Amino acid sequence: MRTGLPPARRILVVAPHPDDESLGCGGTIALYVQSGATVEVLVVSDGAALEEPEGSHNDLAAARVQEMTSAAAVLGIHQVHELALPDGHLAQHQTTITHALRDRIATFQPDLVLAPSPIDGHADHATVGHVILELFRELPGWRLACYEVFTPLRFNCLVDITAVLEQKERAIRCYQRSLFGQPDLFWEAFRALNLMKSAVVHHHGFFEALWLLQAPPSDQEVLAWATYNFQPRDSGHPTLWTVKEIDEVLFALQEKTAALTAAQQRGTLEHANALLQEQLHEQVEVNARLQQTTEQWEQERPREGDPGSAWDQGFWRRQFERVFPVGSLGRARLRRLKRLLAQYTSKSPSE
Ligand SMILES: [Zn+2]
Repeated sequence: MRTGLPPARRILVVAPHPDDESLGCGGTIALYVQSGATVEVLVVSDGAALEEPEGSHNDLAAARVQEMTSAAAVLGIHQVHELALPDGHLAQHQTTITHALRDRIATFQPDLVLAPSPIDGHADHATVGHVILELFRELPGWRLACYEVFTPLRFNCLVDITAVLEQKERAIRCYQRSLFGQPDLFWEAFRALNLMKSAVVHHHGFFEALWLLQAPPSDQEVLAWATYNFQPRDSGHPTLWTVKEIDEVLFALQEKTAALTAAQQRGTLEHANALLQEQLHEQVEVNARLQQTTEQWEQERPREGDPGSAWDQGFWRRQFERVFPVGSLGRARLRRLKRLLAQYTSKSPSE
């Protein structure tokens, strides 16, 4: 985890609505401007879909542009571009957003793009996050940093904005109508979001969180990142552990039988008798366990076409080899296990 402003001279901030740039990364913008970097903002939607009290809908889009202009002046943003796409419906305009962003990146040639993350809780934000991620895969020459708005981000970079906190506050307060007439509330909330990161760095301050990407990630990497490497439960595993359990029981039984036979052959009747008693006792236990396991097995057994069941044999073979590494088992035992597995993964006669 890094702290500090990622080095950049030309920064493009993508804001789905007027206000996101100030809420999400207003402090970072102010710091870049202070460092002498050039910062441009591209606002994607017209912001005209806010729910306001009756009768106040007039000129909302114009009012939000006005608020955006004031906030941009507070933060020192060099230029604001507006796409004016319909607020709340950005998912239906992905192609337009892609073209516009591609053009902007080609013209402005940023070395860093700041945008909402593809897992932001607001649908418009997530759309913009997706589009920018695709462009990051397509166009070379810049780095991407996702900022947090409505969904706290899993971050790998914290920017200490304590020194410019007051500027961020003033920028947010420019948004009267954009923030439902309650900029105080939003300021307090986002201040808290920034303050919370003090717990991560162990000193009091205000920090904007970024997910800074050096290279385009695959979808898999995005998922792994966003979910802290959460792995869904492997559907093959319970099955294979059941097979393994049954095998161990059978194997133990086989060893007992062999010992019993040997004792009988040696004519040590007393010893054989003791073994027999022992085996009978175990047999009862083993039978109960086998029955229980088989019932469980039958319940868990994936059927062809089951949603989520990993049916294909290749999958099963791979899983099998993971649970039973070849070489650790005798050949005969391995053959028997494979028979069990085949029985398990093939259709039952009734199907
Ligand atoms: Zn927004």
